[in-house]
Amino acid sequence: MNFWPGSATKRGWSERRPSVEALSHLLVLAEHAHGRLKPVTLAAAGFAAQVCARAGGTFDFLVLGEGVGAVAEALRTYGAARVLVADHPALREPLADKHAHLLAQAVGACGVTMVVAAASTYSKDVLPRAAALLDAGMLSEVVAVQADGGGFTFQRLMFAGNVLGTATLEGPVRFLTVRPAAFAAPASAPGLAVVEMLAVEAVTLPNYLTFQAREEKVSARPDATEARVVVAGGRALKTSQEFEQLVGGLADALGAAVGASRAVVDAGLVPNSLQIGQTGKAVAPELYVALGISGAIQHLAGMKDSRVIVAINRDPEAPIFEVADYGLIADIHQAVPELVDKLRRR
Ligand SMILES: Cc1cc2nc3c(=O)[nH]c(=O)nc-3n(C[C@H](O)[C@H](O)[C@H](O)COP(=O)(O)OP(=O)(O)OC[C@H]3O[C@@H](n4cnc5c(N)ncnc54)[C@H](O)[C@@H]3O)c2cc1C
Repeated sequence: MNFWPGSATKRGWSERRPSVEALSHLLVLAEHAHGRLKPVTLAAAGFAAQVCARAGGTFDFLVLGEGVGAVAEALRTYGAARVLVADHPALREPLADKHAHLLAQAVGACGVTMVVAAASTYSKDVLPRAAALLDAGMLSEVVAVQADGGGFTFQRLMFAGNVLGTATLEGPVRFLTVRPAAFAAPASAPGLAVVEMLAVEAVTLPNYLTFQAREEKVSARPDATEARVVVAGGRALKTSQEFEQLVGGLADALGAAVGASRAVVDAGLVPNSLQIGQTGKAVAPELYVALGISGAIQHLAGMKDSRVIVAINRDPEAPIFEVADYGLIADIHQAVPELVDKLRRR
């Protein structure tokens, strides 16, 4: 094991055999966008802190990438024992074969009993591969954890969030993704976590995947998965211009991200990347404003964890009103310009 040069043998990490009864040692896989920490990582850390508070134990962060010094530094204040960092050009792109390989190595070398990451496109790609490499069990979309007599019981959302399942995982190592909305970031800890740099031997990394290109839509608006406020539009919008004028206009007045129902995406009004729901993005902002969206279960699956939901719809029977905290029965063409006007005057 060359992954932890000189330190693995000295500290006896490779000798450790994790067991269900042992104190938990969690590893939180950090997520970042080219060196900028993604806030969902802190939800995973919140889960780890909760497990440690209830069952005892410690947690570390693992940061994989290139030029990730700022990410590691930002993670030092959240109560982790260590921030483990593998910083190498070969890790620049989040290619799942390489990241999963290093994650599995870190688990074996550090005696990790639980690996956790926020449920996201990245973790869905990396965690199951690492779990498979270690022949370990995995649960996704966990929303609650209970410690009971040396074991753990997890609650997880299934079938687009319509079923709450209860499950346990056998084996010395468990892999989990958690719903970001279900866990708050841990409070800042008094001490700073130690940063440990890990040596990466590029030649030993798997090479099944090769990075070709990245196509990113550059937008002045925030990403819906990270924004505090999301304004989303549905089939009530008939053209791209109308969508931009009403949904974009209200979003800009609120400093919000923009989202859309699948109906609008399928109609070609907005790109696929804006879709919220079962087959789109899952968001949990502090405020979600649904404009002319009926509230189909597939859409609710992606936004019902939002803290406050506001819906504007002209149909009083629209199912969106069942989950909305505030509802306005009105035509969006009339209500939204008035709302934007009032917001701009403040
Ligand atoms: C496997 C599968 C996966 C899916 N995944 C997703 C997903 O990820 N995301 C998603 O969104 N959907 C998804 N869908 C589609 C989903 O079932 C709905 O068809 C879709 O969400 C409907 O979008 P909508 O609410 O915009 O349109 P509609 O259901 O047509 O609702 C439009 C609403 O606008 C209101 N309205 C109309 N005009 C006005 C106006 N002028 N002012 C105010 N209100 C008005 C109407 O009263 C109505 O409530 C999926 C479906 C399947 C089968």
